[in-house]
Parts: sequence; structure tokens; C-alpha cells
Amino acid sequence: MPDSVRRMFRDQEEKETVVDDSSKHGGRLRTYPHERGNWATHVYVPYEAGEDFLELLQLLLLCGRTYMPLLMGQEEFHISLSQGVVLRHHWIDPFVQSLKERLASFHRFICRADQVKVYTNQTKTRTFVGLEVSSGHSQILELVSEVDQVMEEFNLMPFYKDPSFHLSLAWCVGNMSEALEGKCIQELQEIVDGFEDSSYFLRIPGTEVRCKSGNKIFSFPLR
Ligand code: AMP
Repeated sequence: MPDSVRRMFRDQEEKETVVDDSSKHGGRLRTYPHERGNWATHVYVPYEAGEDFLELLQLLLLCGRTYMPLLMGQEEFHISLSQGVVLRHHWIDPFVQSLKERLASFHRFICRADQVKVYTNQTKTRTFVGLEVSSGHSQILELVSEVDQVMEEFNLMPFYKDPSFHLSLAWCVGNMSEALEGKCIQELQEIVDGFEDSSYFLRIPGTEVRCKSGNKIFSFPLR
């Protein structure tokens, strides 16, 4: 590990823990406390939802809420290439630079996300209903391998060893996987399969990778 990176972990700047008000983020619990100088960071491929997709989402929510009334629709859509990690503020620029260099030669790709699946976060404080990627897995895996190497440089957590790439559609608080798995998933899958043109708009164009760190968003267009 370079000395500069090691210094990052020795950095003993005074930290200020902010009282976390879960009502300000939809009742979700933060996985890590917010501290001044610590920036929640995430790398992903964005997906611009069109009208058809949002219509399908509404149908899925109507059905899903008969099993889990507190299911909330996502407002922004993406395929994650990293876990949520925490970066010190002064490491954002070198982190972004490293991502830029590693992603520069990557080509655009197309994947398909059409298999309904339930996920929980690591701490099982949130449950997600997502569409798992059924084709295009290998290109995303190559991107993750580059992102993982950047994570390693900064001594941060790599992505899942056995990743299940997906587009999250909805979420709820707590581990509700039992209520959502089985019959509910089956019904949701039938809605996806039967929705007109879903095979067209569930083809996801991977044209760009983004890194969100705190309130900053960095874009890395693919070639
Ligand atoms: P995302 O919409 O990408 O934030 O993913 C929703 C949740 O799925 C995250 O909290 C992930 O931790 C979780 N997840 C659980 N298992 C996996 C897996 N095998 N691959 C990717 N994400 C997963």
C-alpha cells in the first residue's frame, strides 16, 4: 500500500458524528454513521428510466404491496459495480483519477435485466426487489474487476465475490425477504414477462460508469 494511502488511515482529524434522523431518508437506517470528512461513495452504471419502464414499475409496486404494504419504488436506477464504501474527502480526487484511468479503454455494452429477485443489504436492515441481469454479465464483471482494483488501492471493500448484477426497483425497511420470495416473486415475474415491449426496454445500454461520492457525481463515458 502506498505511504499516502496508509496516511489516510492514520488521519486523526477531529470527527464530528451527526445525529442520524432516519425520517430524513425515508425511514432507512444508515449502514455507517455520517462523519464530517467521510464521503459515502458508490460506483455504478446508471439507467435512464423511460415511460414504459415507469409504467411497469407501477404495476410491480401494486402487486408487491399486496405482500409488503411498505414497499417503496426507487426514484433512481442503476446497476452497482461497487458496494457502498466510505472515502475521506481528500481521497476523492485520486480515487476518481484511478477509476478514470482504469475505465478509459472500456467499450459500451448492452445487458438485459429481466429476472425478478429479492436482495438484502449486508446488515439485513433493508430489502430490495430487483431485476437481475440475465445477459451481459461478463462485460459487467470486467468493469467490476477494474473497480475492485481501485478499491484495493484505497484499502476499501471489493464487490461481492459472487455478484448478482441487478437493477433495484423497490425497497423496504428490514429483512422482508421471506414475505417477498416465492409467490410474490412469481407474480412479479409474470407481470414483467407479460408487459408489452418489456424485452425492448429491459435491454440496458451501458454507455457510462458513474461514481457518486457524497453530493458529487463523476462520469466516465465508455468508448
Ligand atoms: P443496489 O440496488 O445495487 O444498491 O443493491 C441492493 C442491495 O443488494 C445492496 O444492498 C447489496 O448489498 C445487495 N446484494 C445482496 N446480494 C448481492 C449480490 N450477490 N450482488 C450484488 N448485490 C447484492
